[in-house]
Amino acid sequence: MNRRETLIRPEIRMLSAYHVAESAGLVKLDAMENPYSWPDALVAEWLDTLRTAALNRYPDPQARALKDALRTAMAVPDDYDLLLGNGSDELIQLLMLAVAQPGRTVLAPEPGFVMYRLIAIATGLRYLGVPLRVDDFELDRDAMLAAIKQHSPALTFLAYPNNPTGNLFDETTVRAIIAASPGLVVVDEAYLPFAERSLIGLMAEHDNLLVMRTLSKLGLAGLRVGLLIGRRDWLGEFDKLRLPYNLNVLSQASASFALRHQTLLDEQAATIRAAREELTASLRQLPGLTVYPSQANFILFRTPRGRATTTFTALKRQGVLIKNLDGSGVHLDDCLRVTVGTAEENSRFLAALGTALAE
Ligand SMILES: *Cc1c(COP(=O)(O)O)cnc(C)c1O
Repeated sequence: MNRRETLIRPEIRMLSAYHVAESAGLVKLDAMENPYSWPDALVAEWLDTLRTAALNRYPDPQARALKDALRTAMAVPDDYDLLLGNGSDELIQLLMLAVAQPGRTVLAPEPGFVMYRLIAIATGLRYLGVPLRVDDFELDRDAMLAAIKQHSPALTFLAYPNNPTGNLFDETTVRAIIAASPGLVVVDEAYLPFAERSLIGLMAEHDNLLVMRTLSKLGLAGLRVGLLIGRRDWLGEFDKLRLPYNLNVLSQASASFALRHQTLLDEQAATIRAAREELTASLRQLPGLTVYPSQANFILFRTPRGRATTTFTALKRQGVLIKNLDGSGVHLDDCLRVTVGTAEENSRFLAALGTALAE
C-alpha cells in the first residue's frame, strides 16, 4: 500500500468531493439561489458600512451584533440561544463532531440533503437513509420509527421543507419521530422563507429538538451564515467545537447590514413564492411531466422514463443550467430540479424545456 492509502481513512478515499457544476454564461437555476440583486443605492450604502470594517482585527468571536439581528429577524424566543456557523453546513459538521463515536448512527429520510450523508461519513459516523414514501415523498412513519428503535440514532435530520423534494412533512409524524428519538433531532428550516410553516414551536415540548436555519436561500448565499437555535446547555457543547472566528468580519458586517433591510429580502422571497406557483402551473401544462408541489424555492419534476439526462443536456445546450438528479438516490430516477429564478429566467427555462421535450 502506498502512503496515501495507508494514511487516508478508507471511507474518505471512497468519498467524492462535493461537486459544483460549471455555470459560466448559463442561466443559473441549479443551486436554490435568490436571483435578485440589490438596488444600486443599497449597494452603495452597504459598501459604506464595509469602509469601517477592521480587516486587521479578528472578527467578534461571538458575532454578537449579528446574533442580535438574527434573533430579531427570525423571531427567536428569548428562552433559546443561537449558534452561528459558516453556513449551516458547518453547523451540521459541529453537531456530528460532537457525537461522533464508532458505531453511532446519523439518520435522515431519503431522498434528502446530501451534506447529512457526506459529513456523517467524514466524521466517522454511520449514515442511515430511510426511504420516503414513493408517491408523495411523505415520511414513512413506520419505517422511521422502526429505524429509530433499531439503531438509536445520535442525530436525526429532517429538512422542513425537504430538499430535493420541496414538501413539508406531516407534523404529527415529525412529532412522533422526535418523541421516539433517544438522540437529538435537527429540523433544518433552510427554506423557511418560502414555506407556510415552521416547527420552532415544537421546541417547547421536546428538549431533544434543535432548529437550524440559514441566510443562504433568503438571498445571502455568498456570506455563508447559518444558525442553530436551541437550548443553552446543548448549544454550549457544540460551541466548544466551533473554530473561534468562523464568521469573518465581512460576513458579519454584511449580514447585519442586510438584516436592517429585511423588508427587501422578504419582498424578494414573496416574489419567488408567487413565481414558484406560476412555474409549477406552467410545468404541469407540459406533456409527460410529473410535477411535485413545493414549499421551497425550487421545483422537483419527473420526466418520461429515461429522458432526464437528455432533457438536462438539451437545456444546457440552450443555456439553462438546472440540477439532474437522475440516478442520484432513492426515488429520484428521471428527476430534475429547477430553482425558481426571475420571471425572465423562468420563461427562458420553460421555452428551452418545451424544445427539449419535443426533441
Ligand atoms: C441549501 C441547504 C442548506 C444551506 O446550507 P448553507 O450551508 O447554509 O448554505 C441547509 N440545508 C438544506 C436542506 C439545504 O438545502
